[in-house]
Amino acid sequence: SSLIDIKEIGRKYVIGSETIHALKSVTLQINKGEFVALMGPSGSGKSTLMNILGCLDTPTRGEYVLNGIRVSDMTDDELAEVRNKEIGFVFQTFNLLPRSTSLDNVALPLIYAGLNKDQRFEKAQKALESVNLGNRMDHKPNELSGGQRQRVAIARALINDPSIILADEPTGNLDTKTSVEIMGLLEEIHSKGNTIILVTHEEDIAQHAHRIVRMRDGLIEDDYPNPEIKNVS
Ligand code: ADP
Ligand code: ADP
Repeated sequence: SSLIDIKEIGRKYVIGSETIHALKSVTLQINKGEFVALMGPSGSGKSTLMNILGCLDTPTRGEYVLNGIRVSDMTDDELAEVRNKEIGFVFQTFNLLPRSTSLDNVALPLIYAGLNKDQRFEKAQKALESVNLGNRMDHKPNELSGGQRQRVAIARALINDPSIILADEPTGNLDTKTSVEIMGLLEEIHSKGNTIILVTHEEDIAQHAHRIVRMRDGLIEDDYPNPEIKNVS
């Protein structure tokens, strides 16, 4: 069975007398280990879909089954646990705590994992070393470059060993060279078996994914394997 199984989900917003169908009817299956680029014009529903995939929002119709469990059946506590343990979020604006060091930012999600302080810092240190930031552990976000900040955010997203990485325009604030570095890091993470869903506007960035899903007006317009990727497996 699929890791993500979405059937005919819709999400509408009712504002006064106006109803906006952000998602009309979206059906999508994603297996463990896939690397998917989600593309489409502004307003096509990408963020709405990502929020639903990340259990930050719920559809107003249809069904989302994650890892065999219906998300609509989960309690608030179960949802919080899924968001913390099963899903790693990476954002365009990094979303790091500005007053905290890299080490503190990366260790934060471990507070709920029942580890003591030494264990949390040891794990966070290893995570930072794995993204080549072993020499930036005591730096705060404003003492780091954009690419370094995004690597801290990626280390934080991976710290609880999630089954899915949701990356919403992770290279949107980075120059081309740094974007390529970050995509290289995501490819490395994918090669270790992680499932990655990436929103991007840039065709060059989407070319790193193995599958491309294009949205328009709250619907999936196209969904195909990336012809640029030679699948040897
Ligand atoms: P429900 O009340 O069951 O949630 P909806 O209000 O989402 O149903 O609409 C029912 C169906 O009609 C859905 O498939 C929805 O996508 C479609 N629909 C309704 N209004 C629009 C619209 N303005 N644009 C596109 N699809 C629409
Ligand atoms: P994208 O990420 O592709 O730019 P979004 O998912 O952000 O698209 O938006 C899809 C549609 O839903 C847009 O018409 C947007 O204005 C609307 N929308 C998104 N979030 C909200 C919200 N919180 N309230 C009302 N409308 C929203």
